[in-house]
Amino acid sequence: MESSKDEYLPREIKLLVIHCSATRCNVRFSVEQLRECHLQRGFLDIGYHFYITRDGVLHHCRPISEMGAHVRGFNRHSIGICYEGGLNEDGKPADTRTAAQRFALIDLLTILRHQYPEAQIAGHYQLSASIHKACPCFDPRKEYSEL
Ligand SMILES: [Zn+2]
Repeated sequence: MESSKDEYLPREIKLLVIHCSATRCNVRFSVEQLRECHLQRGFLDIGYHFYITRDGVLHHCRPISEMGAHVRGFNRHSIGICYEGGLNEDGKPADTRTAAQRFALIDLLTILRHQYPEAQIAGHYQLSASIHKACPCFDPRKEYSEL
């Protein structure tokens, strides 16, 4: 028997939390830039599990088995998903998702809802009344209520 696997217990996933990178839609924010930003904040790696860039590419940032660092108080039982953007060209909160990002998000959420049927989909701002952020700049509960 492998001792390291004896102690392994999968995390219970109760929430699929959607975020935006809070960067302007006309300014590129690559997965490498995101990693650099989060490392500077003292994280071990990107705090989200998934990052979807404007071209619709899904980047796997950390294994689901590992706890993320994306929403205070809810990291233990959640998966963090972030899309590139969330601010318009003037820096104001806006749903800047491209069609490719919308498709990638639905694909990913469909798979995760299948894997974790008990998990609820929510936007960062919807988790607590004390979160005063627009993130992710749309209403995931409403938009993905059919998933
Ligand atoms: Zn967020």
